[in-house]
Amino acid sequence: MKLQSRARRTLVSAGVAAAVLVSAVAAAATGSFGGGTPDRSAGLAKQIDPDKPRNVILLIGDGTDESIITAARNYEKGADGAFALDRLPFVGDMTTHGLKVGPGPDYPIAYVSDSAPTASAWSTGHKTVDGRVSQGPSTADTVPGQDFRTVLMDWRDSGRRTGNVSTSEITDATPAAAASNVNARACQGPADMANCVAARKANGGKGSIAEQLVDNEIDVILGGGLNRYNQATDAGPSVLDYAEDAKDYRFVSSAAGLDGIGSLGGGPVLGLFAPGNLTPRYSPLIATPPPGAGGPTARCSLANRGTQPSLAAMTEKAIDLLDNRRGFFLQVESAMVDKQEHAADICGAIGDVSELDDALEVALDYRRHNPDTLIVVTSDHAHSTQIVPNGSSGRQTATLLTADGDPMSVAYSTQAVGSSHTGSTVRVAAVGPQAANVTGLIDQTDLYWTLKGHKPSKLHGGGKH
Ligand SMILES: [Zn+2]
Repeated sequence: MKLQSRARRTLVSAGVAAAVLVSAVAAAATGSFGGGTPDRSAGLAKQIDPDKPRNVILLIGDGTDESIITAARNYEKGADGAFALDRLPFVGDMTTHGLKVGPGPDYPIAYVSDSAPTASAWSTGHKTVDGRVSQGPSTADTVPGQDFRTVLMDWRDSGRRTGNVSTSEITDATPAAAASNVNARACQGPADMANCVAARKANGGKGSIAEQLVDNEIDVILGGGLNRYNQATDAGPSVLDYAEDAKDYRFVSSAAGLDGIGSLGGGPVLGLFAPGNLTPRYSPLIATPPPGAGGPTARCSLANRGTQPSLAAMTEKAIDLLDNRRGFFLQVESAMVDKQEHAADICGAIGDVSELDDALEVALDYRRHNPDTLIVVTSDHAHSTQIVPNGSSGRQTATLLTADGDPMSVAYSTQAVGSSHTGSTVRVAAVGPQAANVTGLIDQTDLYWTLKGHKPSKLHGGGKH
């Protein structure tokens, strides 16, 4: 049965298909899959490293839960395939709930969160309310809470380099939470401050997210969102002019421009490659009411991304620039998985899971020569893409031909049109020093302490310590 299904793969390359077939035969000879593999205890024990990491690379797939990872794996690799993110040695489940505004100090739980409180949780070690960026809860959305220092700022203040990369506007919630504090995620540029009046620089505040990211002197900022940086600051010049003139940033706006930056010797780098969000890898295939979009032969098509760099290219350049003897902290977000899931766009979401995985491959390449690097791959919250039986109903469905040569159907059913976040745990996977701390069930606020670096523990029997 298993051999049959593997033998009729149509879309994998002949070489890969042959190799899979050989391993299938070998596995069949042992009587079962899985049961024939060796015990992994010794191999895993060898990878437990209690040292503090010199570098941390945190990769985020926004809205990238097990459902969309599985759908992307089926589509790109086949049901028995694996992404790089499936091969990391230490894996846990992470809770993502947030809080609701209220009189405090015990704020009600929000079981479904947005990217602002979730990214704030690993950035600061504190829970907060929906829409809030690295700032604590309060009585109302427009009432500021307490500002919390972020783990990126901690790394910066200890003399290490820092980077912030995303395929969304760089002022969107996840990259914002890495290095800004504001009561509402909508306050992305100085012209967007209606809900954050006290935060305006004219009122003595820290300013919009766009301004704070450059004021916090992140060495490498790469993503979308040029429109926010073209807005005028309260003092007059645009945020971009302010970044270049007052903070010495070098601005680039294309993949070629980014290629031209060879080191941080000439100052920090601000790369903004689109007015808004960057373009997802694949053109959209939007799910529709039954019988649904796509079909048993439908495949996704590559979108034209013009002069925008890929997430992998941005990650590679960021690592090249940040690499130094003392170490660095880099956050990288594949943001459009979430945004395309909101749009019930299965191709857009799948393609940007692959973007995340390609960025991880770049990080793993670096780690091969720099084993004192901790790499963590996770998500901020779950989403509503579900893999369903072919032909089953759902508010909106779509069907694609996978790498197995079989049809896979997905459904989006949390809203009449589009789809929303959900409240499940998400995967957190890691490799490198102190990576074992992600194992089991952890909360996003626990991840903060791992990114910061724990006091090393002692290993018994054969470990390094
Ligand atoms: Zn979302």
